[in-house]
Amino acid sequence: MRFKLLILYHFIRFRLNRKYLRSEIGLAYLRERRKRKWRKHLKRSAFYQDLAESDLSDFPLMDKASFMEHFDAINSVGISREEAFAIALKSEESRDFSSEINGVTVGLSSGTSGNKGIFLASLKERAVWVAAVLDRVIGFSLRKRKVAFFLRSNSNLYESVGSSLLSFSYFDIKADMKQNLEKLVVLNPHILVGQPSVLLAVSEYYRDMGINSGFEKVISVAEVLEEDVAQRLEQVFKAKTEQVYQCTEGFLAHTCEHRNLHFNEDWLHIEKKYLDEENKRFHPVITDYLRSSQPIIRYELNDIIQEGETCNCGLKSTVIRKIEGRSDDVFVLRNRRGEPVIIYPDFVRRAVITASDDITNYVVTLIGSNELSLYIETGKGRVRDDYELASTSLHALFESFDVDGLSINEQKAFVLESGAKFKRVRNLCQT
Ligand SMILES: [Zn+2]
Repeated sequence: MRFKLLILYHFIRFRLNRKYLRSEIGLAYLRERRKRKWRKHLKRSAFYQDLAESDLSDFPLMDKASFMEHFDAINSVGISREEAFAIALKSEESRDFSSEINGVTVGLSSGTSGNKGIFLASLKERAVWVAAVLDRVIGFSLRKRKVAFFLRSNSNLYESVGSSLLSFSYFDIKADMKQNLEKLVVLNPHILVGQPSVLLAVSEYYRDMGINSGFEKVISVAEVLEEDVAQRLEQVFKAKTEQVYQCTEGFLAHTCEHRNLHFNEDWLHIEKKYLDEENKRFHPVITDYLRSSQPIIRYELNDIIQEGETCNCGLKSTVIRKIEGRSDDVFVLRNRRGEPVIIYPDFVRRAVITASDDITNYVVTLIGSNELSLYIETGKGRVRDDYELASTSLHALFESFDVDGLSINEQKAFVLESGAKFKRVRNLCQT
């Protein structure tokens, strides 16, 4: 009960604070107010206590590796990395995700193998997170609504939030998909949440079975939602598709009524680490003033963000035009003079989708320093011509960067490991 009251309290606060989101001054005011409380909590972190009163620019820059290295000293709730890993791994195996240490939830982030991260969230932080999601994603309604989540791992968070107005059902994406889909049709939820590759699988099932979905909203999480995928989902589901930018490090951005993705800058301070000379792409370096059990301060994410224009919806927070992928999806090749050339995933995507209108899905993988594999799927099954067109278009792209001698081989089939994240542009050749 206490948890639900906390959610209600924070939800009301988010609603009351909405008036501040429409001006730069208002956003800064909310951040400053939260920052004052946040400083008090920092005194409980051995790693940050001496910096508690310092300017943000004096804090060290962090990334996943340094963050995990100093895990024990950073968190303010006295949990060691070994302890946290042990309990999180146990819940992954048992698929029982109600793991807690002294009331602090412990979760495992999905990262590539060997690169897993741990996140901690106190009861209050979980309540604030839920309140923020209700405020910005699910929306408040006095009607009773059902929400279906397709996720890699459940968190006791979702189900504990259930109330007479909202009921949450969790679908394990590692479980049998056919059974999941049959269960989903029976449940007939108002809101469907999942990663784009899973949402696509759901949409194909609904289309093939001729089922009309009753979804009012479809929410994409965890993977980059590309425009063509969003359109296909909307065609089948006849429902609004929204994107949430959420990761272990926090709830970072939400979709506004004009369908633009906005950073939640009323509690996040975003520094932009630009990656290209035109300042078009950046890595966000985030500071989250709502997190204190595991402070997230000047933490560099490896997502590649393209910034958008100011949005007409009235929100003054930074607009994300596109989340292009992660820095490890970037192709680093050599041109004819032997100099390194950086090719961002967006270039590769554009080369493939502009090659033929019939291409519905594809995977481009850099498998060696001068070798690519290309998988192409079309609406009519796999068609040879479309593969050739895409391959020619990719060769032209590399030629435009003065890169030659790259061989492209056809990948005949692509099977996504259950529960894995789907990426259309992948770099398996990390140098
Ligand atoms: Zn907007």
